[in-house]
Amino acid sequence: MARSVLVTGGNRGIGLAIARELAAAGDAVAVTYRSGEPPEGLFGVRCDVTSTADVEAAFDKVEAEQGPVEVVVSNAGITKDTLLAMMKEETFTEVVDANLTGAYRVAKRAIRPMMRLKRGRIVLISSVIAMLGQAGQANYAASKAGLIGFARSLAREYGSRGITVNVVAPGFVATDMTADLDTEAIVKNIPLGRQASPQEVARVVRFLASDDASYITGAVIPVDGGLGMGH
Ligand code: NDP
Repeated sequence: MARSVLVTGGNRGIGLAIARELAAAGDAVAVTYRSGEPPEGLFGVRCDVTSTADVEAAFDKVEAEQGPVEVVVSNAGITKDTLLAMMKEETFTEVVDANLTGAYRVAKRAIRPMMRLKRGRIVLISSVIAMLGQAGQANYAASKAGLIGFARSLAREYGSRGITVNVVAPGFVATDMTADLDTEAIVKNIPLGRQASPQEVARVVRFLASDDASYITGAVIPVDGGLGMGH
């Protein structure tokens, strides 16, 4: 039977690529979308991950449509870049609320049904910036580094229940999020000398969600063309 999968922020960018990759592998895939329209061919539920009520309602709808969620990918994320000296408190807390507390809300709602199933896969989308830091992204880096400690704690709490929790740390991926960045300057520091496509991240998530990754938990898998090597 097809597994029930939920990808947050699955209406565009990396999240959409993950959703399509898992759907192509035979899973029943639902995506959350915050704005616009749900992508064609996927079950879409409107959800802002900064709202606990939204997250709970989204899971309720997905469970009613395709059964208890066995694979959850926490992908929704934002940037609000500025140097610390200029950073207002809400610019820090809004990014942490979406990227880190959002992952908490999603994992928290997912975990009990997974415990009942005695299996589950949780994949959190972090970033190479979690390890490297980045001028102008102290809020983002803090939120993405927080995901690692969060995931590893869950890996310890729920490993005995057959639930794996892993982190994917993409480097520089061609999406709306990076559209305004100076590509030429950034790729100079990337050993593979180019940006990733969203599909290159999606394939790694598909692997982590598959039976082939049955003995991997608490891992941070870089998908960064070598940008973060050594961290
Ligand atoms: P995009 O900006 O293309 O897409 C972001 C997605 O997250 C959208 O679907 C957006 O929904 C959703 N989202 C943002 N905030 C919320 C919220 N509060 N509630 C629900 N959904 C929300 O980004 P990417 O595809 O590039 O990024 C996806 C993930 O990958 C992010 O976590 C990002 O930090 C991470 N990442 C990206 C890298 C890159 O180079 N692109 C590198 C490393 C990590 P909506 O369409 O409604 O705005």
